[in-house]
Amino acid sequence: MQLDGLKNIVGDNGWTSAADELQPHLTEWRGTWVGKTPLMLMPTSTDEVARLVAECARLKIGLVPQGGNTGLCGGAIPDDSGQQVLLSLQRMNRIRSLSADNFSMIAEAGCVLSDLQEAASKARRLFPLSLAAEGSCQIGGNLSTNAGGVNVLRYGTARDQVLGLEVVLPDGSVINALRELRKDTGGYDLKQLFIGSEGTLGIITAAALRLYPALPDRRTAMLAIDSPQQAVALLAFLREKTLDQLQAFELLSELTLQIVCTHISGTRRPFTEAAPWYVLLDVALDPDYDNIEPALIQALERGFANDVVIAKNDSEQAALWRIRHSVSEAQKFEGASLKHDVSVPIDCIARFIEAATVAVETHWPGSRVVAFGHVGDGNVHFNVSQPPDWPAPRFLAERARLAARVHDIVASLGGSFSAEHGVGVLKKGVLAEFRAGAEIKLMRALKSLLDPDNIMNPGKVL
Ligand SMILES: Cc1cc2nc3c(=O)[nH]c(=O)nc-3n(C[C@H](O)[C@H](O)[C@H](O)COP(=O)(O)OP(=O)(O)OC[C@H]3O[C@@H](n4cnc5c(N)ncnc54)[C@H](O)[C@@H]3O)c2cc1C
Repeated sequence: MQLDGLKNIVGDNGWTSAADELQPHLTEWRGTWVGKTPLMLMPTSTDEVARLVAECARLKIGLVPQGGNTGLCGGAIPDDSGQQVLLSLQRMNRIRSLSADNFSMIAEAGCVLSDLQEAASKARRLFPLSLAAEGSCQIGGNLSTNAGGVNVLRYGTARDQVLGLEVVLPDGSVINALRELRKDTGGYDLKQLFIGSEGTLGIITAAALRLYPALPDRRTAMLAIDSPQQAVALLAFLREKTLDQLQAFELLSELTLQIVCTHISGTRRPFTEAAPWYVLLDVALDPDYDNIEPALIQALERGFANDVVIAKNDSEQAALWRIRHSVSEAQKFEGASLKHDVSVPIDCIARFIEAATVAVETHWPGSRVVAFGHVGDGNVHFNVSQPPDWPAPRFLAERARLAARVHDIVASLGGSFSAEHGVGVLKKGVLAEFRAGAEIKLMRALKSLLDPDNIMNPGKVL
Protein backbone atom coordinates (compact mmCIF):
# COMPACT_ATOMS: atom_id res chain seq x y z
CA MET A 1 0.00 0.00 0.00
CA GLN A 2 1.24 3.51 -0.78
CA LEU A 3 1.04 5.21 2.58
CA ASP A 4 3.72 7.90 2.34
CA GLY A 5 1.37 10.51 0.87
CA LEU A 6 -0.98 10.05 3.85
CA LYS A 7 1.87 10.32 6.37
CA ASN A 8 3.14 13.51 4.74
CA ILE A 9 -0.22 15.22 5.09
CA VAL A 10 -0.29 14.83 8.88
CA GLY A 11 3.46 15.11 9.59
CA ASP A 12 5.51 12.99 11.97
CA ASN A 13 3.27 13.47 15.01
CA GLY A 14 0.13 12.67 13.09
CA TRP A 15 0.46 8.96 12.40
CA THR A 16 1.59 5.70 13.97
CA SER A 17 2.33 2.17 12.81
CA ALA A 18 3.66 1.01 16.19
CA ALA A 19 1.93 -2.19 17.25
CA ASP A 20 1.67 -1.20 20.93
CA GLU A 21 0.11 2.18 20.04
CA LEU A 22 -2.31 0.63 17.56
CA GLN A 23 -3.41 -2.20 19.82
CA PRO A 24 -6.06 -0.33 21.91
CA HIS A 25 -7.52 1.12 18.72
CA LEU A 26 -7.85 -2.28 17.07
CA THR A 27 -9.82 -4.03 19.79
CA GLU A 28 -13.48 -3.28 20.37
CA TRP A 29 -14.47 -2.26 23.91
CA ARG A 30 -15.69 -5.75 24.90
CA GLY A 31 -13.01 -7.49 22.84
CA THR A 32 -15.58 -8.96 20.44
CA TRP A 33 -13.80 -7.62 17.33
CA VAL A 34 -10.08 -7.33 16.74
CA GLY A 35 -8.89 -5.72 13.50
CA LYS A 36 -5.66 -5.04 11.63
CA THR A 37 -4.25 -1.90 10.08
CA PRO A 38 -0.89 -0.76 8.76
CA LEU A 39 -1.48 2.84 9.84
CA MET A 40 -3.46 5.11 12.16
CA LEU A 41 -3.77 8.76 11.13
CA MET A 42 -4.38 11.49 13.72
CA PRO A 43 -5.11 14.76 11.91
CA THR A 44 -5.48 18.07 13.78
CA SER A 45 -7.64 20.06 11.35
CA THR A 46 -10.53 19.75 8.94
CA ASP A 47 -8.17 20.64 6.12
CA GLU A 48 -5.91 17.69 6.99
CA VAL A 49 -8.92 15.35 7.16
CA ALA A 50 -10.08 16.58 3.74
CA ARG A 51 -6.65 16.00 2.19
CA LEU A 52 -6.37 12.54 3.78
CA VAL A 53 -9.77 11.50 2.49
CA ALA A 54 -8.98 12.82 -1.01
CA GLU A 55 -5.74 10.82 -1.02
CA CYS A 56 -7.55 7.66 0.14
CA ALA A 57 -10.13 8.21 -2.60
CA ARG A 58 -7.35 8.55 -5.20
CA LEU A 59 -5.67 5.34 -4.00
CA LYS A 60 -8.99 3.60 -3.22
CA ILE A 61 -7.91 2.82 0.35
CA GLY A 62 -10.63 2.02 2.87
CA LEU A 63 -10.78 4.46 5.79
CA VAL A 64 -12.26 3.70 9.21
CA PRO A 65 -13.10 6.76 11.35
CA GLN A 66 -12.67 6.27 15.08
CA GLY A 67 -13.71 8.37 18.07
CA GLY A 68 -13.36 7.01 21.62
CA ASN A 69 -13.76 3.40 20.43
CA THR A 70 -16.53 2.76 22.94
CA GLY A 71 -19.07 1.69 20.31
CA LEU A 72 -20.24 -1.84 20.97
CA CYS A 73 -21.11 -2.97 17.45
CA GLY A 74 -17.69 -3.23 15.79
CA GLY A 75 -18.20 -0.05 13.73
CA ALA A 76 -14.91 1.66 14.62
CA ILE A 77 -12.63 -1.36 14.11
CA PRO A 78 -10.96 -2.06 10.74
CA ASP A 79 -11.50 -5.53 9.30
CA ASP A 80 -8.79 -8.19 9.49
CA SER A 81 -7.51 -7.73 5.93
CA GLY A 82 -4.85 -5.25 7.02
CA GLN A 83 -5.88 -3.12 4.01
CA GLN A 84 -7.87 -0.43 5.84
CA VAL A 85 -6.43 2.68 7.46
CA LEU A 86 -7.71 4.05 10.78
CA LEU A 87 -8.49 7.74 11.12
CA SER A 88 -8.64 8.82 14.74
CA LEU A 89 -10.23 12.18 15.53
CA GLN A 90 -8.59 12.34 18.99
CA ARG A 91 -6.41 15.39 18.19
CA MET A 92 -9.34 17.43 16.86
CA ASN A 93 -10.53 18.28 20.34
CA ARG A 94 -11.05 22.04 20.47
CA ILE A 95 -14.21 23.83 21.47
CA ARG A 96 -14.23 26.49 18.77
CA SER A 97 -16.81 28.72 20.43
CA LEU A 98 -19.52 28.77 23.10
CA SER A 99 -22.33 31.31 23.27
CA ALA A 100 -24.35 31.28 26.49
CA ASP A 101 -26.86 33.71 24.97
CA ASN A 102 -27.37 31.66 21.83
CA PHE A 103 -27.43 28.49 23.96
CA SER A 104 -24.97 26.85 21.59
CA MET A 105 -21.38 25.75 21.15
CA ILE A 106 -19.21 24.59 18.27
CA ALA A 107 -17.01 21.61 19.09
CA GLU A 108 -14.62 19.52 17.06
CA ALA A 109 -15.40 15.85 16.55
CA GLY A 110 -12.66 14.57 18.88
CA CYS A 111 -13.92 16.42 21.98
CA VAL A 112 -14.60 13.95 24.77
CA LEU A 113 -18.26 14.11 25.80
CA SER A 114 -17.58 14.84 29.48
CA ASP A 115 -15.34 17.80 28.48
CA LEU A 116 -18.27 19.29 26.58
CA GLN A 117 -20.58 18.82 29.56
CA GLU A 118 -18.02 20.55 31.76
CA ALA A 119 -17.50 23.49 29.37
CA ALA A 120 -21.27 24.00 29.18
CA SER A 121 -21.58 23.82 32.94
CA LYS A 122 -18.91 26.51 33.44
CA ALA A 123 -21.10 28.80 31.33
CA ARG A 124 -24.17 27.88 33.48
CA ARG A 125 -25.51 25.81 30.62
CA LEU A 126 -26.28 22.13 30.18
CA PHE A 127 -25.15 19.87 27.37
CA PRO A 128 -27.60 17.07 28.12
CA LEU A 129 -26.15 14.11 26.24
CA SER A 130 -24.99 11.69 28.96
CA LEU A 131 -23.98 8.03 28.91
CA ALA A 132 -21.82 5.71 30.95
CA ALA A 133 -18.96 5.97 28.42
CA GLU A 134 -18.92 9.80 28.57
CA GLY A 135 -15.37 9.99 29.93
CA SER A 136 -14.03 8.32 26.76
CA CYS A 137 -16.50 8.63 23.89
CA GLN A 138 -16.22 11.61 21.55
CA ILE A 139 -18.90 13.86 20.16
CA GLY A 140 -18.07 12.74 16.59
CA GLY A 141 -18.72 9.13 17.63
CA ASN A 142 -21.85 10.15 19.55
CA LEU A 143 -23.31 11.84 16.51
CA SER A 144 -22.23 9.09 14.11
CA THR A 145 -24.07 6.53 16.25
CA ASN A 146 -26.92 8.87 17.22
CA ALA A 147 -26.21 8.02 20.86
CA GLY A 148 -29.06 7.92 23.36
CA GLY A 149 -28.10 7.67 27.02
CA VAL A 150 -29.92 8.71 30.16
CA ASN A 151 -31.50 12.04 29.23
CA VAL A 152 -33.40 11.12 26.06
CA LEU A 153 -36.78 11.39 27.75
CA ARG A 154 -36.42 15.13 28.24
CA TYR A 155 -33.85 16.23 25.64
CA GLY A 156 -33.92 13.61 22.87
CA THR A 157 -31.02 11.68 21.34
CA ALA A 158 -27.70 13.00 20.01
CA ARG A 159 -29.49 13.92 16.77
CA ASP A 160 -31.68 16.37 18.66
CA GLN A 161 -28.65 18.24 20.02
CA VAL A 162 -27.33 19.22 16.59
CA LEU A 163 -27.84 22.62 15.01
CA GLY A 164 -25.21 22.28 12.29
CA LEU A 165 -22.37 20.05 11.09
CA GLU A 166 -19.06 20.19 9.30
CA VAL A 167 -18.43 17.02 7.29
CA VAL A 168 -15.72 15.76 4.96
CA LEU A 169 -17.30 13.81 2.10
CA PRO A 170 -15.75 10.64 0.62
CA ASP A 171 -14.20 12.64 -2.26
CA GLY A 172 -12.45 15.00 0.17
CA SER A 173 -14.80 17.96 -0.30
CA VAL A 174 -16.10 19.70 2.83
CA ILE A 175 -19.67 20.57 3.77
CA ASN A 176 -19.37 23.56 6.05
CA ALA A 177 -22.79 23.88 7.62
CA LEU A 178 -21.93 24.86 11.18
CA ARG A 179 -24.96 27.11 11.36
CA GLU A 180 -26.08 27.83 14.93
CA LEU A 181 -29.71 28.35 13.96
CA ARG A 182 -32.97 27.05 15.36
CA LYS A 183 -34.77 27.88 12.16
CA ASP A 184 -33.41 27.16 8.71
CA THR A 185 -35.56 25.98 5.84
CA GLY A 186 -32.89 26.29 3.16
CA GLY A 187 -33.31 23.07 1.25
CA TYR A 188 -32.64 19.47 2.28
CA ASP A 189 -31.42 19.05 5.85
CA LEU A 190 -28.19 17.31 4.84
CA LYS A 191 -26.73 17.06 8.35
CA GLN A 192 -29.30 14.37 9.14
CA LEU A 193 -27.65 12.07 6.57
CA PHE A 194 -24.43 11.94 8.55
CA ILE A 195 -25.93 11.61 12.04
CA GLY A 196 -26.34 7.92 12.78
CA SER A 197 -24.62 6.76 9.57
CA GLU A 198 -21.60 5.44 11.51
CA GLY A 199 -18.92 6.95 9.29
CA THR A 200 -20.16 5.27 6.10
CA LEU A 201 -21.07 8.49 4.28
CA GLY A 202 -18.44 10.95 5.50
CA ILE A 203 -16.36 12.10 8.43
CA ILE A 204 -17.89 14.53 10.91
CA THR A 205 -15.17 17.03 11.84
CA ALA A 206 -17.17 19.51 13.96
CA ALA A 207 -20.69 20.18 15.20
CA ALA A 208 -22.76 23.15 16.31
CA LEU A 209 -24.56 21.90 19.40
CA ARG A 210 -27.63 22.99 21.33
CA LEU A 211 -27.30 23.97 25.01
CA TYR A 212 -29.94 24.30 27.75
CA PRO A 213 -30.17 26.11 31.09
CA ALA A 214 -28.15 24.39 33.82
CA LEU A 215 -30.26 21.96 35.80
CA PRO A 216 -31.76 22.75 39.18
CA ASP A 217 -32.09 20.06 41.84
CA ARG A 218 -32.73 16.49 40.80
CA ARG A 219 -35.10 14.39 42.92
CA THR A 220 -35.20 10.59 42.72
CA ALA A 221 -37.99 8.19 43.62
CA MET A 222 -38.84 4.55 43.17
CA LEU A 223 -42.42 3.32 42.84
CA ALA A 224 -43.80 -0.20 43.18
CA ILE A 225 -46.29 -1.06 40.45
CA ASP A 226 -48.25 -4.02 39.10
CA SER A 227 -47.40 -4.04 35.41
CA PRO A 228 -45.63 -2.33 32.49
CA GLN A 229 -49.09 -1.06 31.45
CA GLN A 230 -49.34 0.76 34.78
CA ALA A 231 -45.86 2.21 34.20
CA VAL A 232 -47.02 3.72 30.91
CA ALA A 233 -50.08 5.26 32.59
CA LEU A 234 -47.91 6.58 35.45
CA LEU A 235 -45.51 8.12 32.94
CA ALA A 236 -48.32 9.99 31.19
CA PHE A 237 -49.72 11.19 34.54
CA LEU A 238 -46.36 12.48 35.78
CA ARG A 239 -45.44 14.10 32.46
CA GLU A 240 -48.66 16.09 32.69
CA LYS A 241 -48.25 16.87 36.41
CA THR A 242 -44.63 18.02 36.16
CA LEU A 243 -45.05 19.77 32.81
CA ASP A 244 -42.47 17.44 31.33
CA GLN A 245 -39.79 17.90 33.94
CA LEU A 246 -39.08 14.16 34.20
CA GLN A 247 -35.43 13.42 33.50
CA ALA A 248 -35.51 9.64 33.64
CA PHE A 249 -38.20 7.00 33.93
CA GLU A 250 -36.86 3.47 34.17
CA LEU A 251 -38.77 0.20 34.47
CA LEU A 252 -37.40 -2.85 36.30
CA SER A 253 -39.00 -6.24 36.82
CA GLU A 254 -38.97 -7.98 40.21
CA LEU A 255 -36.58 -10.62 38.82
CA THR A 256 -34.21 -7.85 37.74
CA LEU A 257 -34.26 -6.35 41.25
CA GLN A 258 -33.79 -9.80 42.83
CA ILE A 259 -30.73 -10.53 40.67
CA VAL A 260 -29.14 -7.17 41.53
CA CYS A 261 -29.76 -7.47 45.28
CA THR A 262 -28.47 -11.06 45.30
CA HIS A 263 -25.20 -10.42 43.48
CA ILE A 264 -24.18 -6.80 44.03
CA SER A 265 -22.85 -6.08 47.48
CA GLY A 266 -24.21 -3.02 49.23
CA THR A 267 -27.52 -2.99 47.32
CA ARG A 268 -30.76 -3.60 49.18
CA ARG A 269 -34.43 -3.84 48.34
CA PRO A 270 -36.10 -0.41 48.58
CA PHE A 271 -39.49 -1.86 49.65
CA THR A 272 -40.22 -4.38 52.38
CA GLU A 273 -42.73 -6.17 50.15
CA ALA A 274 -41.95 -7.36 46.65
CA ALA A 275 -43.97 -5.96 43.75
CA PRO A 276 -44.13 -7.37 40.21
CA TRP A 277 -42.51 -4.26 38.71
CA TYR A 278 -40.81 -1.00 39.75
CA VAL A 279 -40.26 2.43 38.27
CA LEU A 280 -37.20 4.52 39.07
CA LEU A 281 -37.53 8.16 38.17
CA ASP A 282 -35.64 11.43 38.30
CA VAL A 283 -37.27 14.81 38.10
CA ALA A 284 -35.53 18.19 37.86
CA LEU A 285 -37.45 20.92 39.63
CA ASP A 286 -36.66 24.40 40.85
CA PRO A 287 -36.37 23.92 44.64
CA ASP A 288 -37.73 27.44 45.27
CA TYR A 289 -41.05 26.73 43.60
CA ASP A 290 -41.67 23.06 43.07
CA ASN A 291 -41.98 19.85 44.97
CA ILE A 292 -42.45 16.39 43.48
CA GLU A 293 -44.05 14.84 46.57
CA PRO A 294 -47.65 16.01 45.95
CA ALA A 295 -47.58 14.60 42.42
CA LEU A 296 -46.27 11.24 43.66
CA ILE A 297 -48.89 11.08 46.42
CA GLN A 298 -51.61 11.82 43.88
CA ALA A 299 -50.21 9.05 41.69
CA LEU A 300 -50.70 6.61 44.60
CA GLU A 301 -54.18 7.92 45.39
CA ARG A 302 -55.27 7.54 41.79
CA GLY A 303 -53.97 3.97 41.51
CA PHE A 304 -51.03 4.65 39.18
CA ALA A 305 -48.69 3.02 41.71
CA ASN A 306 -48.89 1.02 44.95
CA ASP A 307 -46.00 2.35 46.99
CA VAL A 308 -43.22 4.91 46.74
CA VAL A 309 -39.85 5.71 48.29
CA ILE A 310 -38.39 9.16 47.73
CA ALA A 311 -34.64 9.64 48.17
CA LYS A 312 -34.06 12.12 51.00
CA ASN A 313 -30.41 12.83 50.30
CA ASP A 314 -27.57 12.20 47.85
CA SER A 315 -26.63 8.82 49.27
CA GLU A 316 -30.22 7.51 49.08
CA GLN A 317 -30.40 8.83 45.53
CA ALA A 318 -27.15 7.06 44.65
CA ALA A 319 -28.37 3.83 46.28
CA LEU A 320 -31.52 3.77 44.13
CA TRP A 321 -29.59 4.47 40.93
CA ARG A 322 -26.96 1.88 41.86
CA ILE A 323 -29.66 -0.77 41.51
CA ARG A 324 -30.39 0.33 37.96
CA HIS A 325 -26.75 0.72 36.95
CA SER A 326 -25.81 -2.71 38.32
CA VAL A 327 -28.22 -4.77 36.25
CA SER A 328 -25.75 -5.78 33.50
CA GLU A 329 -23.04 -6.65 36.01
CA ALA A 330 -25.45 -8.66 38.17
CA GLN A 331 -26.81 -10.59 35.21
CA LYS A 332 -23.36 -12.03 34.50
CA PHE A 333 -23.68 -14.10 37.69
CA GLU A 334 -26.75 -15.82 36.25
CA GLY A 335 -24.83 -17.40 33.38
CA ALA A 336 -25.08 -16.67 29.67
CA SER A 337 -27.60 -14.13 28.49
CA LEU A 338 -29.00 -13.06 25.13
CA LYS A 339 -29.70 -9.35 24.93
CA HIS A 340 -32.02 -7.31 22.76
CA ASP A 341 -31.97 -3.52 22.86
CA VAL A 342 -35.20 -2.70 21.09
CA SER A 343 -37.68 0.15 20.90
CA VAL A 344 -41.42 0.26 20.35
CA PRO A 345 -43.98 3.06 20.60
CA ILE A 346 -44.45 3.81 24.31
CA ASP A 347 -48.06 2.62 24.28
CA CYS A 348 -46.91 -0.80 22.94
CA ILE A 349 -44.31 -1.48 25.67
CA ALA A 350 -46.61 -3.66 27.77
CA ARG A 351 -47.76 -5.66 24.74
CA PHE A 352 -44.17 -6.15 23.64
CA ILE A 353 -42.93 -7.36 27.03
CA GLU A 354 -45.87 -9.69 27.46
CA ALA A 355 -45.74 -11.24 23.97
CA ALA A 356 -41.94 -11.58 23.92
CA THR A 357 -41.92 -13.14 27.41
CA VAL A 358 -44.55 -15.71 26.42
CA ALA A 359 -42.62 -16.53 23.22
CA VAL A 360 -39.34 -16.99 25.06
CA GLU A 361 -40.77 -18.98 27.97
CA THR A 362 -42.70 -21.26 25.60
CA HIS A 363 -39.85 -22.03 23.22
CA TRP A 364 -36.97 -21.97 25.72
CA PRO A 365 -38.51 -23.35 28.92
CA GLY A 366 -36.52 -22.50 32.02
CA SER A 367 -34.97 -19.37 30.52
CA ARG A 368 -35.52 -16.22 32.52
CA VAL A 369 -36.55 -12.84 31.11
CA VAL A 370 -34.69 -9.92 32.69
CA ALA A 371 -36.59 -6.96 31.28
CA PHE A 372 -35.81 -3.37 32.12
CA GLY A 373 -35.46 -0.14 30.27
CA HIS A 374 -36.21 3.45 29.52
CA VAL A 375 -40.02 3.50 29.35
CA GLY A 376 -40.07 7.16 28.46
CA ASP A 377 -38.03 6.41 25.33
CA GLY A 378 -39.97 3.26 24.41
CA ASN A 379 -36.65 1.46 24.85
CA VAL A 380 -36.65 -1.99 26.43
CA HIS A 381 -33.59 -4.05 27.29
CA PHE A 382 -35.12 -7.45 26.77
CA ASN A 383 -32.40 -9.71 28.18
CA VAL A 384 -32.84 -13.42 28.58
CA SER A 385 -30.75 -15.41 31.05
CA GLN A 386 -30.09 -19.07 30.30
CA PRO A 387 -32.06 -21.90 31.92
CA PRO A 388 -29.96 -22.69 35.04
CA ASP A 389 -29.54 -26.37 34.11
CA TRP A 390 -28.30 -25.70 30.52
CA PRO A 391 -24.61 -25.40 29.62
CA ALA A 392 -23.94 -21.83 28.47
CA PRO A 393 -22.82 -22.75 24.90
CA ARG A 394 -26.09 -24.60 24.28
CA PHE A 395 -28.06 -21.47 25.19
CA LEU A 396 -25.80 -19.11 23.23
CA ALA A 397 -26.26 -21.30 20.15
CA GLU A 398 -29.92 -20.24 20.25
CA ARG A 399 -28.96 -16.56 19.70
CA ALA A 400 -30.25 -16.17 16.15
CA ARG A 401 -33.48 -18.13 16.63
CA LEU A 402 -34.33 -16.34 19.87
CA ALA A 403 -33.52 -12.90 18.40
CA ALA A 404 -35.67 -13.67 15.35
CA ARG A 405 -38.67 -14.40 17.62
CA VAL A 406 -38.14 -11.22 19.63
CA HIS A 407 -37.55 -9.09 16.52
CA ASP A 408 -40.70 -10.44 14.83
CA ILE A 409 -42.74 -9.16 17.76
CA VAL A 410 -40.88 -5.82 17.67
CA ALA A 411 -41.63 -5.53 13.94
CA SER A 412 -45.32 -6.35 14.41
CA LEU A 413 -45.57 -3.40 16.83
CA GLY A 414 -43.79 -0.96 14.53
CA GLY A 415 -40.59 -0.99 16.58
CA SER A 416 -36.86 -0.99 15.91
CA PHE A 417 -34.33 -3.79 16.41
CA SER A 418 -31.71 -1.22 17.35
CA ALA A 419 -32.76 1.41 19.85
CA GLU A 420 -29.17 2.47 20.62
CA HIS A 421 -25.55 1.79 19.66
CA GLY A 422 -26.15 1.64 15.89
CA VAL A 423 -25.59 -1.23 13.49
CA GLY A 424 -21.83 -1.53 12.89
CA VAL A 425 -21.09 -5.07 11.79
CA LEU A 426 -23.10 -6.64 14.61
CA LYS A 427 -26.59 -5.91 13.28
CA LYS A 428 -25.99 -5.63 9.52
CA GLY A 429 -28.03 -8.73 8.71
CA VAL A 430 -30.96 -7.60 10.85
CA LEU A 431 -30.94 -4.15 9.23
CA ALA A 432 -31.31 -5.72 5.81
CA GLU A 433 -34.43 -7.57 7.03
CA PHE A 434 -35.99 -4.72 9.00
CA ARG A 435 -35.55 -2.01 6.38
CA ALA A 436 -36.21 -4.24 3.37
CA GLY A 437 -37.74 -2.65 0.26
CA ALA A 438 -37.59 1.02 -0.68
CA GLU A 439 -35.80 2.05 2.53
CA ILE A 440 -32.74 -0.18 2.10
CA LYS A 441 -32.69 0.57 -1.65
CA LEU A 442 -32.47 4.30 -0.93
CA MET A 443 -29.78 3.72 1.73
CA ARG A 444 -27.70 1.75 -0.79
CA ALA A 445 -28.30 4.37 -3.50
CA LEU A 446 -27.14 7.16 -1.16
CA LYS A 447 -24.06 5.17 -0.21
CA SER A 448 -23.06 4.55 -3.82
CA LEU A 449 -23.83 8.13 -4.82
CA LEU A 450 -21.65 9.64 -2.08
CA ASP A 451 -19.05 6.90 -1.88
CA PRO A 452 -18.90 5.09 -5.25
CA ASP A 453 -15.58 3.39 -4.44
CA ASN A 454 -16.75 2.30 -0.99
CA ILE A 455 -13.76 3.76 0.84
CA MET A 456 -15.70 5.17 3.80
CA ASN A 457 -15.90 2.63 6.64
CA PRO A 458 -16.33 -0.30 4.23
CA GLY A 459 -18.28 -3.33 5.43
CA LYS A 460 -20.22 -1.46 8.12
CA VAL A 461 -23.99 -0.90 8.39
CA LEU A 462 -25.00 -1.96 4.85
C1 LIG B 1 -20.01 1.47 29.30
C2 LIG B 1 -20.70 1.90 28.04
C3 LIG B 1 -21.96 2.46 28.11
C4 LIG B 1 -22.62 2.89 26.95
N1 LIG B 1 -23.85 3.46 27.06
C5 LIG B 1 -24.47 3.89 25.95
C6 LIG B 1 -25.76 4.51 26.04
O1 LIG B 1 -26.35 4.64 27.11
N2 LIG B 1 -26.33 4.94 24.90
C7 LIG B 1 -25.72 4.80 23.68
O2 LIG B 1 -26.29 5.22 22.66
N3 LIG B 1 -24.51 4.20 23.57
C8 LIG B 1 -23.87 3.76 24.67
N4 LIG B 1 -22.65 3.14 24.55
C9 LIG B 1 -22.04 2.95 23.23
C10 LIG B 1 -21.05 4.08 22.83
O3 LIG B 1 -20.52 4.73 23.95
C11 LIG B 1 -21.74 5.08 21.92
O4 LIG B 1 -22.12 4.42 20.73
C12 LIG B 1 -20.85 6.29 21.57
O5 LIG B 1 -21.67 7.22 20.91
C13 LIG B 1 -19.67 5.94 20.68
O6 LIG B 1 -18.78 7.05 20.65
P1 LIG B 1 -17.23 6.83 20.33
O7 LIG B 1 -16.59 8.16 20.24
O8 LIG B 1 -16.63 5.87 21.26
O9 LIG B 1 -17.32 6.21 18.86
P2 LIG B 1 -16.52 4.98 18.25
O10 LIG B 1 -16.81 3.74 18.98
O11 LIG B 1 -15.10 5.35 18.07
O12 LIG B 1 -17.21 4.92 16.81
C14 LIG B 1 -18.57 4.54 16.66
C15 LIG B 1 -18.95 4.63 15.17
O13 LIG B 1 -18.91 5.98 14.72
C16 LIG B 1 -17.95 6.14 13.68
N5 LIG B 1 -17.29 7.42 13.95
C17 LIG B 1 -16.62 7.80 15.06
N6 LIG B 1 -16.23 9.09 14.96
C18 LIG B 1 -16.65 9.52 13.74
C19 LIG B 1 -16.59 10.77 13.06
N7 LIG B 1 -16.00 11.83 13.60
N8 LIG B 1 -17.13 10.86 11.83
C20 LIG B 1 -17.74 9.78 11.26
N9 LIG B 1 -17.85 8.59 11.87
C21 LIG B 1 -17.32 8.46 13.10
C22 LIG B 1 -17.04 4.93 13.77
O14 LIG B 1 -16.48 4.61 12.51
C23 LIG B 1 -18.01 3.88 14.25
O15 LIG B 1 -18.74 3.37 13.17
C24 LIG B 1 -21.98 2.71 25.70
C25 LIG B 1 -20.72 2.13 25.62
C26 LIG B 1 -20.08 1.72 26.77
C27 LIG B 1 -18.71 1.13 26.64
